[in-house]
Amino acid sequence: MTFTTGKKHIRSFISILLSVIIITSSAMFTGCSDDEANEWLNEIFGMLDYEVFGDTVEGDAKLKMHVIDVGQGDSVLIQCGESNVLIDCGENGMGKTVLDYLRRAGVSHLDWIIGTHPHSDHIGGMDTVIKSKDLSIDHVMMPQTTKEMTPTTMTYTEVLTAIKKKNLKITRPVSGTEYDFDGVTMLVLSPAKSAKYEDLNDYSIVLKFTYKNVSILTGGDASKNVEQQIISRDYDLSADIYKVSHHGGRDGNSQAFLDEINPKYAAISVGADNKYGHPKSEILKRLNKMNCEVYRTDLDGDIIFESDGKNISVIVAK
Ligand SMILES: [Zn+2]
Repeated sequence: MTFTTGKKHIRSFISILLSVIIITSSAMFTGCSDDEANEWLNEIFGMLDYEVFGDTVEGDAKLKMHVIDVGQGDSVLIQCGESNVLIDCGENGMGKTVLDYLRRAGVSHLDWIIGTHPHSDHIGGMDTVIKSKDLSIDHVMMPQTTKEMTPTTMTYTEVLTAIKKKNLKITRPVSGTEYDFDGVTMLVLSPAKSAKYEDLNDYSIVLKFTYKNVSILTGGDASKNVEQQIISRDYDLSADIYKVSHHGGRDGNSQAFLDEINPKYAAISVGADNKYGHPKSEILKRLNKMNCEVYRTDLDGDIIFESDGKNISVIVAK
């Protein structure tokens, strides 16, 4: 009896030892075969193969923009050095997708979480992200709407509750305000202080990020009317990368606004076969005519732009 138990112990000891050897050697093998410099990409894309377009970015690619595939909605992560800014979190139910992406990207701290405007395809998943115990957050930015326009939806209430429970205060965007972190300047282009609109989309926070010679412009869902107001404020709107407004809708993305931005790359966050017919073909034509390279989450999945402040590369799954 004792002998048998002893044998069993020896057997299980040997099998544990073998497993340890196999796991260790396979981990070493994976470690050797992976391109060390792109380990973070392997982490994000998991089992998927990815391909790189655009310029070759070598060395210190401090700036990264991730357009996270959340279907019909928006969620964009901008990273520079140790700083992370998350703009929108997709629909209700997409919070987990965003949190999972942040985990894969190694993000456990957000300098800013920004809800561009209180529609569910932008702030739906925001309460889940804010509530996460794995994430510390410094600042929240959301637009101030008029009393009549303040949403009474469950989605909005849940976001406000999550903000309160995490003891965070809401910063209101004011056009012209600049925030600096890790070499990046984040400039608020819209809305202006005490702006009054009749459409919630028009309250969208529009931002421009500049790192060395590279800049990114992120639109929410604002219309042509707001784009005209932004142009009239005389900012330098030129940007290398443009997160297309309103999922490629034609109420925004006016030719005049696109001319000011003159983007080299555009990213459209949009769901496959969505009921709105986004992105609109005339917007795609406009961008193509400008020789702008367009990437779409419905076709490309997650889209990553990486830059050293001069060159830009685009990374998508194959
Ligand atoms: Zn939207």
